[in-house]
Amino acid sequence: MDKKALREETERLVREAMERKALVVKQGNTRIEAKCGKCGVANRVSAEKGATRVKFVCKECGQKQETL
Ligand SMILES: [Zn+2]
Repeated sequence: MDKKALREETERLVREAMERKALVVKQGNTRIEAKCGKCGVANRVSAEKGATRVKFVCKECGQKQETL
């Protein structure tokens, strides 16, 4: 493999990695940390992009609530 082919191969891999990354962003789910209003334990909640209030159930005490 000569240097030109090697460079093209590297560029291809970088481009593919960026495309994969873009795909993840497009799915739009972000993980936010929500503190339980009852027991204060931090819960990891999956939130859709743009969502401000997300319903979740506390992993510790089972309290159903929404993130602030
Ligand atoms: Zn709780």
